[in-house]
Amino acid sequence: MKISSHPLIKIFNSFFLVELLSGMLLTLKYMISKKKVTLAYPYEKGSLSSRFRGEHALRRYSNGEERCIACKLCEAVCPAQAITIEAEERDDGSRRTTRYDIDMTKCIYCGLCEESCPVDAIVEGPNFEFSTETREELYFDKQKLLSNGDRWEVEIAARLEREALGG
Ligand code: SF4
Ligand code: SF4
Repeated sequence: MKISSHPLIKIFNSFFLVELLSGMLLTLKYMISKKKVTLAYPYEKGSLSSRFRGEHALRRYSNGEERCIACKLCEAVCPAQAITIEAEERDDGSRRTTRYDIDMTKCIYCGLCEESCPVDAIVEGPNFEFSTETREELYFDKQKLLSNGDRWEVEIAARLEREALGG
């Protein structure tokens, strides 16, 4: 039996309010300590892990062409069945999506879509500030995902490069 769980110790702690006093001492210590443990969000933001899985994005190549080749691996692997893709062949014979939707209300941020993609098209970017007032705003379509990719490409490309180098 641990000493702290001995009945006499428990009675002593209850009678002299030991746990309450130790909690108040801890509060006092942080009140007078110069080292702050809180941030004034949203004006200050903490660091993010390079493996952070945030808002989804569809990426393009540097010439503006969409990376996605409509192989549908991400749709097949998604455990939440949050991704819906429709595709057709272009005049030049390449295959591209005509519809790429993600229902973000279903997504569990597992990252499997990104892992399955052979061309690094669908990724989870660093953005975590995409809360909405309605559910409908969380039904992302292809245009929304491509615009996310355009917005976060620099950060996403840097993160993928670090990962490729083993970072
Ligand atoms: S992160 Fe997981 S749940 Fe979300 S869309 Fe990708 S595969 Fe589906
Ligand atoms: S995002 Fe990647 S895995 Fe999904 S359909 Fe496009 S190429 Fe395939």
